[in-house]
Amino acid sequence: MSKFVFITGGVVSSLGKGLTSASIGMLLKSRGLRIQMLKMDPYLNAEPGMLNPIQHGEVYLTEDGAETDLDLGHYERFVGQNLHRCNSVSAGRIYSNVLAAERRGDYHGGTVQVVPHVTNAIKENWKKLESPEVDVIMIELGGTVGDIEGLAFLEAMRQFQLERPDGDVAFVHMTLIPYLRASGEIKTKPTQHSVEKLRGIGIQPDVLICRTEVAIEEEHRRKIALFCNVRSENVIVEQDVEFSIYQVPVMLMEEKVDQILARRLNIELPPSDLTRWNDMLEKVRNPEDEVKIAVVGKYIALTDAYKSVYEALTHAGIANRVKINLLKVESEEIEEHGADAILKGVNGILVPGGFGKRGINGKIAAIQYARENDIPFLGICLGLQCAVSEFARNVCGIENAGSAEWMEEGNIDLDRAVIVQVDAQANVVETDGVKRLGSYACWLHDGTKARSAYGAEMIRERHRHSYEVNPKFVERLQSAGMVISGNNPDTNLVEMIELPNHPWFVATQAHPEFASRPVDAHPLFRDFVAASKSQK
Ligand code: GLN
Repeated sequence: MSKFVFITGGVVSSLGKGLTSASIGMLLKSRGLRIQMLKMDPYLNAEPGMLNPIQHGEVYLTEDGAETDLDLGHYERFVGQNLHRCNSVSAGRIYSNVLAAERRGDYHGGTVQVVPHVTNAIKENWKKLESPEVDVIMIELGGTVGDIEGLAFLEAMRQFQLERPDGDVAFVHMTLIPYLRASGEIKTKPTQHSVEKLRGIGIQPDVLICRTEVAIEEEHRRKIALFCNVRSENVIVEQDVEFSIYQVPVMLMEEKVDQILARRLNIELPPSDLTRWNDMLEKVRNPEDEVKIAVVGKYIALTDAYKSVYEALTHAGIANRVKINLLKVESEEIEEHGADAILKGVNGILVPGGFGKRGINGKIAAIQYARENDIPFLGICLGLQCAVSEFARNVCGIENAGSAEWMEEGNIDLDRAVIVQVDAQANVVETDGVKRLGSYACWLHDGTKARSAYGAEMIRERHRHSYEVNPKFVERLQSAGMVISGNNPDTNLVEMIELPNHPWFVATQAHPEFASRPVDAHPLFRDFVAASKSQK
């Protein structure tokens, strides 16, 4: 049956544990092993869907509609495999399941405790991923060792290892080796303490991955090995990458992490094939040109808030052999200073998804600027809703046209609500429209830029929104020159729009950024960047 690799972190958070787990997964997969990934988040939110992107980064969306931690995005991009609801779980979900079971009487009135009830529920999640079709299951624990909320998960790992035969479970612990610039030294003590904590819980790491800014001498490797009770060759150095996060798997391969894990887990390792990956890295290293792309959003302050959008742009840059220079624009700045002052000289403008009405007029002004100045434009979800509103206002002449989401609840003006909530029959409703979550089909029309980008008539993309283009305005938009390039085949709702008399102006109701991969750029992003490159 499946083998398990647990990945924990110590010393500080934000070490790139997600990236590292994804990279190890990618290496094992490149050897022909069949893998599964699971992210466990110790916070008490039952679902990450409601988390504020400024606090926690983007909410990643799987094709089956699960709103998950952004690490699933790393996993999908590196491993090149679509993940699902079962690949992400939070402590909140585990506790709420245990409490629901208690209310149902499943424990027959017994005392319900963290050990064994919560730890058993955690282990159940791992066992669910086991199958004869999966060789290795990689399980990453969010947070750092020593966090109170992570304890139940670590305890579950300790128990799990005892329940399994030796050679079925491996532990990888990731730490930071700080470099003190003033004295020019690296320090191993925090790593020693972190491993001590782990051993105190009963877990002895098999592999240590040490994040460092500088190279580490053999003598330090030996010292870390000695104090942390691991073999010296199992102390892996993960130095800061030079030019791309996509170098991490290659770096870890040079450190033989895949071979070490295979040995620990008694797995035969077929030879690896990194040809496509290395070709991709070669293109990142040697771009032929640069393009400047403005991303106009409202959670610009935190890079992780639009993680997948930025990554998808990077992939599109790779496909077009250009370096993407990102201009991250807070849309309220455009409201304050005007589009021209902020956006002059950019080669492309992207408006990503979002919720609520803050900054809407800045986005609409950015879109008007792109439309009137022939600057390539890509609108994503809220970006499409803003593009339709802009067109309705400035081309169709519907004053203040916009989305019902931006209007006062209970006071929605249906004469200017070009974006509304609809029910399953595509009838306009004022509230309680269902949130479309997950993958939906879209039928692309002949002769459109969208159709030529995808090279297919029927496609599927992931969705995460409650509002839609109001069907009642579609004819008016079309007669003013907007092309509806894609419709939902079941409800006929608008999925994609574009402008024919413009170099490249396309918007989609879906979230294509989640489907982009470094070695397979998403077609819309690819063509958007290609247009931005040729408009330079
Ligand atoms: N807020 C909009 C809606 O709910 C757009 C959502 C998004 O961009 N993901 O429809």
